[in-house]
Amino acid sequence: MILIFLGPPGSGKGTQAKRLIKEMSIPQLSTGDMLRAGIAAGTELGMKAKAFMDKGDLVPDSVVIGLIQERIGASDCKPGFILDGFPRTIPQAEALDRMLSGLGRSVDRVVEFKIDDQELVSRLSGRRTCPKCSAMYHVVTQKPAKDGVCDQCGTQGLIQRTDDQPKVIQDRLAVYHKQTAPLVGFYTQQKKLRSINALDAPEKVTDALKKALK
Ligand code: ADP
Ligand code: ZN
Repeated sequence: MILIFLGPPGSGKGTQAKRLIKEMSIPQLSTGDMLRAGIAAGTELGMKAKAFMDKGDLVPDSVVIGLIQERIGASDCKPGFILDGFPRTIPQAEALDRMLSGLGRSVDRVVEFKIDDQELVSRLSGRRTCPKCSAMYHVVTQKPAKDGVCDQCGTQGLIQRTDDQPKVIQDRLAVYHKQTAPLVGFYTQQKKLRSINALDAPEKVTDALKKALK
């Protein structure tokens, strides 16, 4: 099953993808995680991407399309995969369709995570991330068991992403509405879109998600 999770930053795409991949035994392909890994490793691509990401802008289509193209050919993607944070523009969606049809495959379903901007701002500004395994926490609603320590991998020093600062959050939301929201129409036309309420508690969202995938 090839799935796309579509939704604004902070809508819970990554959290839900992490829950679902365990049950479905398929990988989560997050372009944001791939780009941050590139930055951490100091690759040329990472350095190029960092300037865009720090401002809340999208990284150029050609960069992320290249990353995804390389990734979906890997053997662990044979049973399917969840795309989290890709595609984010119409040209990316068109490139994805071309890549997949070249492999004799196609997108099975697109789930739209619906939520209002106000909630996103509070979610993102309180978000903390593990620099090692990218597990996510929130200073109020989802604290780790031990202050500042990742529950998943024990890494000390959870960080606030540079792009989770209030000023950048506003820019990312504007970018979402302008460049990514048009994908709702794109996938509605393909009759692949299902929308779920992403404001609910994570467990409830998981239930809604599973229904949307049936
Ligand atoms: P979020 O969904 O919380 O914004 P991501 O980790 O998905 O977080 O993305 C972080 C940043 O990485 C984006 O603001 C953007 O700069 C870059 N990025 C990730 N995926 C893409 C993409 N498909 N196209 C362009 N830029 C991307
Ligand atoms: Zn961790």
